[in-house]
Amino acid sequence: MRQQHHALKPATPGTEHWLTSLHFGAPGRGPKAFIQASLHADEVPGMLVAWHLRRQLAELQNAGRLLGEVVVVPAANPPGLSQFVLRGHQGRFDLASGENFNRGYADLTDSVAQALAGGPVDVPRVRAALRDAVAALPAPTLLASLRKTLFALAVDADIVLDLHCDGEALLHGYTTPGCWPQAELLAACMGWHVALLAERSGGDPFDEACSMVWPQLAARLGQPLPQACMAVTIELRGEADVDHETAAADALAIVQFLHQRGLVQGTPTPPPPSRCRALPLAGSMPLPAPHGGVVVFARAPGAEVQQGDLLAEVIDPITQDVTPVTAPTAGLFFARDNRRFVAAGASLGKVAGTEARRSGSLLSP
Ligand SMILES: [Zn+2]
Repeated sequence: MRQQHHALKPATPGTEHWLTSLHFGAPGRGPKAFIQASLHADEVPGMLVAWHLRRQLAELQNAGRLLGEVVVVPAANPPGLSQFVLRGHQGRFDLASGENFNRGYADLTDSVAQALAGGPVDVPRVRAALRDAVAALPAPTLLASLRKTLFALAVDADIVLDLHCDGEALLHGYTTPGCWPQAELLAACMGWHVALLAERSGGDPFDEACSMVWPQLAARLGQPLPQACMAVTIELRGEADVDHETAAADALAIVQFLHQRGLVQGTPTPPPPSRCRALPLAGSMPLPAPHGGVVVFARAPGAEVQQGDLLAEVIDPITQDVTPVTAPTAGLFFARDNRRFVAAGASLGKVAGTEARRSGSLLSP
């Protein structure tokens, strides 16, 4: 295993941040997988999965069984790791700009299409042009240099796994319809309960920047191109689901998937039967709090609900108002907030339904 330390652009004199990447296997000998943990720096489960993954990948490499290249970024957001405000960790938004760390990744379609115009187009040439396009991105701020550094490590990979978590949730994932035929195997290996699919969810998260450039280039250039990068965001349950047994099993399931994809020598174990439902992200309905107050949940993640079922009450302790919050659609109540006091309008959770009802930006801010 080779470690690389990437210097990020300092925001202010006297400060510095380094991003560390761990490189297993050898480039060019097989597929490339890129796995990053905790881009939202206060979403901790991914960092423990990466810790277990590191040990498992090192064993495979030492046994000479790693065929491709696996790049692991065990903590994808060092600036966010240091953002403590009044004892609370703020790892979702860059405090300097207010921007979400997992939004605003560049769409490389235009620059790559221009670079390839008039010439032959195949996967290796597209990957070379993608590397050049990321290298040419401006990085005037610490946040921009973090985005550019991560993007450069991932943009030419066959497989991109972005490890996040929700407040309290079932294991689930986000990807595009074009990636889903490949991601279904990962979902089966890991035991996802639900996959939420959208081509453009709005906000340009990391996984879509890596994957959507392929179908967009194919359309722009009028050339057949495969979905050569399968990128997914994996929500490793809830923020407090940080234990060795779960993380080791998740890491093993990821290795099993890499094995299935030809990165590990030997006959892979077949995945268990999938329990994962693939549903439109536009059918995942949020539960906005009708007013501020104390939240008392009536149902837990995993509940199958009918439209109108009681999911929570919001209680105003001053007026004594009690407002029921009901399921906006039938489906799987798969995630809920982990706070028990909220402001008006806060999202209390999500129900995944079968019908695409939302439009516009589909991700939470
Ligand atoms: Zn996240």
